[in-house]
Amino acid sequence: MAAVIDGKAIAAEIRLAVKDEVAAHRAEFGEAPGLATVLVGDDPGSKIYVAGKHRASEEVGMRSIEHELPVDASESDVLDLVEDLNADDAVSGMIVQLPLPPQIDGGNVIATIDPRKDVDGLTPTNAGLLTQGRASLVPATPVGVMELLRRAGAELEGAEAVVIGRSNLVGRPLASLLLAENATVTICHSRTRDLPAVARRADVLVAAVGKPEFVTGDMVKEGATVIDVGINRTDEGLRGDVDPAVAEVAGFMTPVPGGVGPMTIALLLRSTLKAARFRRGLLAFRGG
Ligand code: NAP
Repeated sequence: MAAVIDGKAIAAEIRLAVKDEVAAHRAEFGEAPGLATVLVGDDPGSKIYVAGKHRASEEVGMRSIEHELPVDASESDVLDLVEDLNADDAVSGMIVQLPLPPQIDGGNVIATIDPRKDVDGLTPTNAGLLTQGRASLVPATPVGVMELLRRAGAELEGAEAVVIGRSNLVGRPLASLLLAENATVTICHSRTRDLPAVARRADVLVAAVGKPEFVTGDMVKEGATVIDVGINRTDEGLRGDVDPAVAEVAGFMTPVPGGVGPMTIALLLRSTLKAARFRRGLLAFRGG
């Protein structure tokens, strides 16, 4: 039976450490780092995520700055707000909650964010730095996955790592982080031929698919470390992308809930602190 990797407990430790660092930052500079969010429209899922980010940032003593725009906001409304937040010294880091309504080109909006404030790590500058092995601000979920792997003692050097999913937020940046740790990385997606056979090669298997219980026991090598990024709301409740029965085959496994989810928020707070250090010149930003 797989050992459970307790993301909730590890995330709680990280949040405590961030809280101390925020207090030290405030003592030194007279103000706490600030996290701004931009929510366009009233998608219930997005509202829950944004509320969670604010609660968590306040709990560690950061300032939380909330902006909401109506669902029919124009692209230039959003771009103007992002420019204002870029120029606002009270804002250390910002997040534009995705997805945006169809009249707004998300790529344009993301590209307008100051890369030094881009705590979601989605700007072309930060994505490019990561791809070049010069990670700066990186999406929080893949950083959380790497931290879970580290805590589980997973051997990455030379290991076969298979990531299912190639989104800009999870799959692609995670593949870059695994590569930086010298794993042999394969990315699977909806066009992958014989995905179960590819998945069975994995010493480390990460599912970021968005399909409940997509990964089944026959897709997992005996003793593999399996990380479940999926958050799927079904009629039966919250489900991951991995069938819980995979625990009979895997060596280590993350639960849903209580695995990757809590790590994402904790690492987002850590990124906000990092962004505040860029602003104070305590850390050099590599993106020019
Ligand atoms: P996404 O943008 O929808 O990407 C899903 C990926 O899965 C795509 O690359 C897609 O392939 C691939 N895929 C879909 N169906 C497939 C199939 N049948 N076989 C193989 N690959 C398939 O999703 P995401 O943003 O990466 O999120 C993935 C999951 O993680 C979701 O459940 C999301 O809620 C969850 N999530 C959790 C956290 C957290 O904090 N725990 C954070 C972010 C996301 P194509 O590219 O070919 O379409």
